[in-house]
This record gives sequence, C-alpha cells and structure tokens, in this order.
Amino acid sequence: MTAPAARLEVRGITVRFAGLTALDDVSFTVEPGTVHALIGPNGAGKSTCFNVLSGVYRAASGSVAYGGREITGMPPHAVTGLGIARTFQNIVLTAGTVADNLMLGRHRLTRAGFAATALRLPGAVREQRRHRARAAEIAGFLGLEAHFDQPVGALPYGVRKRVELARALCAEPGLLLLDEPVAGMNPAERLETADTIAAIRAALGISVLLVEHDMGMVMRLADTVTVLDFGRRIADGTPEAVQQDPAVLRAYLGQ
Ligand code: ADP
Ligand code: MG
Repeated sequence: MTAPAARLEVRGITVRFAGLTALDDVSFTVEPGTVHALIGPNGAGKSTCFNVLSGVYRAASGSVAYGGREITGMPPHAVTGLGIARTFQNIVLTAGTVADNLMLGRHRLTRAGFAATALRLPGAVREQRRHRARAAEIAGFLGLEAHFDQPVGALPYGVRKRVELARALCAEPGLLLLDEPVAGMNPAERLETADTIAAIRAALGISVLLVEHDMGMVMRLADTVTVLDFGRRIADGTPEAVQQDPAVLRAYLGQ
C-alpha cells in the first residue's frame, strides 16, 4: 500500500514574510528512494521550505513537482493524498493514545465514510480493524508496541518524537519529510533514530527529505545534501563535498 517513491523537484522557490525573504530562489531535487538532507544554520529557511512542500505556506514564486505532477499551491490534505507525509520541528500530536494518533495517520487510506464508521457498518468495522493491525505493526517497527494504548501526553519526549514518525509512516508515504527528527533527543536516542530512518528507507524504498542540524546525522544518513543560509542555497552535493565547501564552513562557523 506504500505510495511509490517519485522524484521531488523544487524549482526556484521564493517565500517572503513582511519584509523578510525566508527563501530566495531555492532549487533542489530528491531522487526516488534516496535520503536528501536540507541543512543550514537557524533561520536559514528549512522549516519554511517544508511548509511550502506540504502545502501549509504558499510560495511567492517558483514551483514544486512530485512525480512530474505540479503540487504548487495544493492544500495539505491533497499533498498527503499523493503520498507525501511529514513530521514537525515541534511535536504536533492530538490528545488520546498512540493508537489514536496512528489511526489519524491512516486517514488517507481509509475508504469508509464518517457515517459508515460511526454506525459501525460491517465493512467499515473490518476496514478499521485492518488499519489498526497495520498501525500496530508500524508501532512495533518503531519500538512503540508497549505504548500503543497509552495516552501520548504521559510519554517522554523522545518517545513522542517516535510517535510522530510512526504516524507519518502510517500514511504509507512515498516521500517522508522529517523536520529535525532528533532535536532534543539524548545521544543514544539520536543514534537509535538514525538507525530507524536508515531501516525505513531500506525496508520501504521510500525517499526521505531530512532537515537536520546535526552534521554527524547527515553524514550518516544522507545521499545528497542542500545547504541553505539566509534563505539562499549555498551548496549542493554529497555530504563529503558539502562538508568541505568553504561557503558552508563560513556559514556554520560564522566566519
Ligand atoms: P529554519 O527552519 O531553517 O531554522 P525557518 O524556515 O523556520 O528557519 O525560518 C526562516 C526565516 O523565516 C526566519 O527568519 C523566521 O523568523 C522567518 N519565518 C518563518 N516562518 C515565519 C512566519 N510564519 N512569519 C514570519 N516570519 C517567519
Ligand atoms: Mg526549522
């Protein structure tokens, strides 16, 4: 049921907020089945870029295509419908249990309407049961099985970050947008999450666009990297090449 991974093409995106150009003519491509990292100092425009890709913000100019299809200006649910799922820099979970949150992730794949589900019609009940089983499977994959029926509010931060990742995976995306998936985690949790992301890519063959601060994480996971600074693309290439780029060193070291 996983949406096939397709090429994401970001072409010349510009986003302005009252007097501030948050993204200035930014272009990059994520090839199907690869991990592409979007890095850069705080305020570089990384989250803004995610918000454009997922339909939350509208770009002043430029376009985005997924699998050759224009997604520029599509509302968030339509973007999700094409198999693009995301997580947020700051955790966004609804009240309720881990299972409740993961079932929301399944929404894109649910066929029975609200009425059929509310009336517990047999077809709808069977479908819900199938979704719940798949959600439990994904929870298990992320080591969340013990938490499945627990309220998310009571869970430690690192576990809630994993619930968000699980919810995104529950949409069976072809492209996963991860905004700082290890921010605020301790070193052990970071390594564990890096391994999980690598395993997800390997097992599902999906593409990942990863916004990350931690260079070690990027070196470990990314096939290719785009570096932003003050809304501009300053470098693009393999992690090794980008790490030695003088413009990148200047941006990171503030020289
Ligand atoms: P990053 O994720 O790389 O740290 P952001 O994309 O969050 O950076 O922010 C880029 C710039 O745009 C920052 O200067 C930020 O203050 C500004 N910005 C982001 N979102 C908004 C908004 N909704 N309104 C006004 N300014 C914003
Ligand atoms: Mg950000």
